[in-house]
Amino acid sequence: MQSKKHAAPWLDLDGAQGEGGGQVLRSALTLSMITGTPFRIEGIRANRSKPGLLRQHLTAVQAAAAICGAQVSGAEPGSQRLSFAPGPIRGGDYRFAVGTAGSCTLVLQTVLPALWFADGPSTISVSGGTHNRAAPPADFLLRAWQPLVSEMGALQTLELVRHGFYPAGGGEVVASVSPCALLQPIALDERGQYVGLKAEAVVAGVPGSVARRELERLRAQIADVDGAIRELPSREGPGNAVLIEVRHARVTELFTAFGERGLPAEIVADQAAKQARHYIESGAAVGEYLADQLLLPMALAGGGRFTCASASSHLHTNITVIEKFLPIEFDVEPFANRVSVSVVV
Ligand code: AMP
Repeated sequence: MQSKKHAAPWLDLDGAQGEGGGQVLRSALTLSMITGTPFRIEGIRANRSKPGLLRQHLTAVQAAAAICGAQVSGAEPGSQRLSFAPGPIRGGDYRFAVGTAGSCTLVLQTVLPALWFADGPSTISVSGGTHNRAAPPADFLLRAWQPLVSEMGALQTLELVRHGFYPAGGGEVVASVSPCALLQPIALDERGQYVGLKAEAVVAGVPGSVARRELERLRAQIADVDGAIRELPSREGPGNAVLIEVRHARVTELFTAFGERGLPAEIVADQAAKQARHYIESGAAVGEYLADQLLLPMALAGGGRFTCASASSHLHTNITVIEKFLPIEFDVEPFANRVSVSVVV
């Protein structure tokens, strides 16, 4: 897929639709770059407690603009409206800093699909938060999302250089991308044979005893869980997260819960275990988060399908945005006790 050279008509988007979060903007930026369609958006993140552009969203706009030489107006902190007219996507060496603990993985996810279709290879470094609530942790990007987009044909590697937690930030993720001719659809009706379950308790500037209590709690709840402590230099903290990786032949899923002051380690472990159990029992190929993050690559591949436990608000919202930019539709149908999501051209 390549950027259109001719002037496409402007698309008008409502940032308040559906979930009304940052994803409406991020998907619009990605697809605008790839299709060459300029867009205007109003009501950015209207349904969030602090609406408008926060540092993470602003960085995503600036990164997208730098990569395709876009003409942008409204890119200011707190802005609820933006217009974005893209130019051709250019490969190159890019560095972006969120500047706060805002998620660098969400910035990366905005620009990586565009770089798959650039005119040459790229390296891109984004600094900020790598393990944030309400965003894909870097481990999720590397272990759950990346293998599936690679299977579709995306030529990229990702590296977690340094962890960054809220509120200090300071983490970094680096990606190398080579352009690919096109993406292949994948069919994920089933997750495939069970391979294994692995838990990690991550601590940075937090006592190791917290990690030990988290793993102990997990072992009491999940039979045969393989547990490890990832003890980071305290300068990467303070931060604590429990990660549970559930591997099947076709899909690796990763569930995360975050520690916070005053929240007992056992509760953090319970929160991660609950998500993993819900996924395991659902029998679906992918979990809630992976589901909404696979839509865009699948739409770009012009086909593909997966099953998930249920259709989230992020999933429906992202479908609405994607269908505005690309000549495809998604079917969301009940399938056994799950939901099947497929691209219809
Ligand atoms: P938004 O709320 O619109 O900014 O979108 C948040 C994005 O982060 C969605 O794509 C979610 O799927 C993703 N996300 C949120 N929490 C997690 C998590 N724990 N693991 C993976 N992805 C997540």
